[in-house]
Amino acid sequence: MECKICHNFHRKFWCANCIRKNLHSYKVETNQITYDKQKNVDQANKFLSGTMRNIQVNVAEKHAKIQKIRIKCFPAILRSSGSR
Ligand SMILES: [Zn+2]
Repeated sequence: MECKICHNFHRKFWCANCIRKNLHSYKVETNQITYDKQKNVDQANKFLSGTMRNIQVNVAEKHAKIQKIRIKCFPAILRSSGSR
């Protein structure tokens, strides 16, 4: 800290210039974070409404159906293999 007024860390006092500088850097940082967040939200929304999402849902449904068939047919498979 270059300011002579705010230099003393034991005092909880900031001068107007230092507050202005810190607020400016805080706003710049916050704007960047808000921009990044909005970009990520937009990407997520695009992904969730896009064709890749539909493909993933279809693949998940296919795997669920295969699993259901395996569970349903498992006793028959055991019987045919002779391992009871
Ligand atoms: Zn200061």
